[in-house]
Amino acid sequence: QAKAAGRNTIACFDPEMQLRVAASVALEADLRRALAQEEFVLHYQPQVGVDGRLAGAEALLRWNHPQRGLVSPAEFIPVAEDTGLIVPLGQWVLRSACRQLAQWAGGAATAALEMAVNVSAHQFHRPDFVGQVLAVLAETGAPAGRLKLELTESLLLKDVAGTVEKMFLLREVGVGFALDDFGTGYSSLSYLHRLPLDQLKIDRSFIQEISGEGHGAAIVRIIVALGQALDMTVLAEGVETAAQFDFIVAEGCQAYQGYLYSRPLPAERLAEFIAARAGG
Ligand code: C2E
Ligand code: MG
Ligand code: MG
Ligand code: MG
Repeated sequence: QAKAAGRNTIACFDPEMQLRVAASVALEADLRRALAQEEFVLHYQPQVGVDGRLAGAEALLRWNHPQRGLVSPAEFIPVAEDTGLIVPLGQWVLRSACRQLAQWAGGAATAALEMAVNVSAHQFHRPDFVGQVLAVLAETGAPAGRLKLELTESLLLKDVAGTVEKMFLLREVGVGFALDDFGTGYSSLSYLHRLPLDQLKIDRSFIQEISGEGHGAAIVRIIVALGQALDMTVLAEGVETAAQFDFIVAEGCQAYQGYLYSRPLPAERLAEFIAARAGG
């Protein structure tokens, strides 16, 4: 025991770890400043039916850092989660995405598009989450029926009863739900069917493994069967090649997103993309 504690104490003075802690403290301060100075932007990645119909887009957060340029969410979302900054940041994302959705709703070529928004566990499990979503919908005038919240398996597991209640309250006004990165977490089949989920999103890692040594192809097949059984659509994430596209179509996925169709784009670029497709 004493020996283990001693080792832990020594580990705290591990210079590499000290550097990591210092870097995350600096990042936290920088994130706070960035939130106040509105350095965040949303990019939008198209979500497409396998028939080629544009169904909507996923809002993906980017940090437009004055010195470092565009910073990836993979770098700062974990720090934002650890520090609780994800709550105001997530609120900003929801409001910005809903503003954009309201704008799409008013345009002929974009009127039917859905907006998918990532929600972190911290944000979702706040007691006032449902009220905040309703307030943002009212404030922005975004159509609730075209807002889709992307939740993760670990988020659902944390408090199943509370989660089910919140999801049903939001579903009553038309908000939809997708289960993000599906297959990487620990979903239990015993409650998956109790949740009002509209969509399963197959994690990109399985799509990448389709033609490899791993079990990607088998997992895609299983998730599609599960989606059919539970009456949820299945979207494949991270489709990069024509071969991956052909496979997910053959297996019965209804939708996909990935670099094959489009990378995430700034709102103006997405509008151009849509106009070019409508015109051409
Ligand atoms: P995610 O929600 O699973 O989003 C999909 C990620 O896959 C995005 O990365 C997207 O750019 C990337 N991606 C899409 N298609 C392809 C492809 O064909 N190939 C490859 N290699 N990548 C592809 P991104 O934008 O870096 O976001 C990473 C993660 O950060 C997201 O994963 C999500 O978990 C989190 N995130 C992003 N924005 C938000 C946000 O507003 N709130 C929260 N809570 N999390 C966010
Ligand atoms: Mg997502
Ligand atoms: Mg995902
Ligand atoms: Mg993923």
